[in-house]
Amino acid sequence: MRGLDELMARARNASWERFDRRIAFYHPGMFRYEGKWGQYSAISITGDSCELQCDHCKARLLEPMIHATTPETLVKTCQDLEKRGDRGCLITGGFRKDGTLLWDTFIDAIRTVKETTNLHISIHGGIIGSDMAESMKEAGIDQVLLDVIGDDETLKKVFHVDFGLEKIVETLDSLTNVRMPIVPHSLGQK
Ligand code: SF4
Repeated sequence: MRGLDELMARARNASWERFDRRIAFYHPGMFRYEGKWGQYSAISITGDSCELQCDHCKARLLEPMIHATTPETLVKTCQDLEKRGDRGCLITGGFRKDGTLLWDTFIDAIRTVKETTNLHISIHGGIIGSDMAESMKEAGIDQVLLDVIGDDETLKKVFHVDFGLEKIVETLDSLTNVRMPIVPHSLGQK
């Protein structure tokens, strides 16, 4: 425990040195706070369905999101969000058993969104190969959020996938090679 405390103290000091002692909080678009909705909506391209059914979520995260389950609906939804004043959106959805999302079906629609709006587009990536990373960069996606899961056992037990950390490392490499900004979500198991 002492070792962990020391590590936490070092991490805190490194963070303060680099980013100062301020914390920015963002208000996601699917939640209302003091009567106001956030201006960065989350959109699910699979509605409320997800093949993984992770222990901590069971697809509940997808329920309050805007559901846009066809490429045409996604384009229209994003254009409507910009008209109402949103600044960007997170495009996500339920993952397939192999840890991927339906980017092959939706990548052209996302390109159209970037060409016809000024929205900042984040996606929740999942497992991404080098070809898809290139397509994402070309389509103009601004950043990729990625679950960086701490160990193989957590992946199998909690996320119900049959691959290990190597797939996440490959995804990080694919995105880094095309200079895609990455937002890691760090997860692990005690
Ligand atoms: S993959 Fe995402 S949406 Fe699906 S159950 Fe896991 S955390 Fe929830």
